[in-house]
Amino acid sequence: MGRSALLTMPLDTSSVTPLLTTKPESVPPISSLPPARRCVPLALPPLATSSVPPLKIVVLLATPPDSTTCVFGAYTMMKKLLLLAFVVVASEAMAQDAQCVPERAAMVEIIRAYARSGASLLGPQGISERVLEAVGQTERHRFIPGRSCSVAYMDGPVLIGQGQTISQPFIVALMTDLAAVKFDDTVLEVGTGSGYQAAVLARVVRKVCTVEIIPPLAEAAAKVLRELGYDNVSVKVGDGYHGWPECGPFDAMIVTAALGHVPPPLIEQLKVGGRLVMPLGPADAPQQLTVIEKIAPSETRMRSTILVHFVPFTRSQD
Ligand code: SAH
Repeated sequence: MGRSALLTMPLDTSSVTPLLTTKPESVPPISSLPPARRCVPLALPPLATSSVPPLKIVVLLATPPDSTTCVFGAYTMMKKLLLLAFVVVASEAMAQDAQCVPERAAMVEIIRAYARSGASLLGPQGISERVLEAVGQTERHRFIPGRSCSVAYMDGPVLIGQGQTISQPFIVALMTDLAAVKFDDTVLEVGTGSGYQAAVLARVVRKVCTVEIIPPLAEAAAKVLRELGYDNVSVKVGDGYHGWPECGPFDAMIVTAALGHVPPPLIEQLKVGGRLVMPLGPADAPQQLTVIEKIAPSETRMRSTILVHFVPFTRSQD
């Protein structure tokens, strides 16, 4: 998912070393060249090469009177250059895909360890392999400012701007697991934040709809999700208290901000048999991570799991 998406990204040329073109002094004077070599150096546009050594490339461009020969030569050269550029970009993408792999693997082991120690809560199976695999494949570092591997995969919440955080990795995995989702499910997330939880969900279900109340966070999350190829995630700016009826009904819901009660519109948009996972309680104290199951059109069953501390669920003025 990540690699193909990277290949479709526009090249970011703002901070990279331009490809070296012919050194002026190394080009013989045009008059000294045989006719077919009377070409001038062409300055190439820079390519994204942040993790690849700069390449030395000489390009000869046609000038009359031997333009046909020279243009043909330049055309062949351009084809080679395009191929080379493709290889450079592909290896760049592979290098980025390979980034943070040890940190991510270590993070998954920590999640497993938490799950083992909380066996009474999760049962002997702990957190499902499907969820662990999704977490192990999701590039958490792409969702945080600075993209640092050590920060992104540490065992704790990470600041994402606007005073908000991505939850600790174990909590993301736990909430995904408690939602008990299936491949064909449609899931609502309230509190997109960085888009990371949505990305994890997107790997285990068919469709994710996520609502964020802070527009710059929603925009940044939508951008990174698009860049990484998560085309089964839709992001909306708004007050998630109202859910997202047009995107539902939902098989499961995850709310990632703390509120003292369950928003009735969410229960309405949840299918019978569906689950809503959310931190229930006041914003200024630990909350109960709660699983609410809709067992009949107007009946729910609640189960508290562990104490957590989430950012507050805020409300829009309208
Ligand atoms: N799930 C996010 C982390 C969320 S932090 C991630 O993976 O990065 C909680 C988020 O909930 C914040 O971004 C906050 O702005 C958002 N939020 C709070 N109240 C909200 C509301 N009423 N509707 C939608 N989003 C809300």
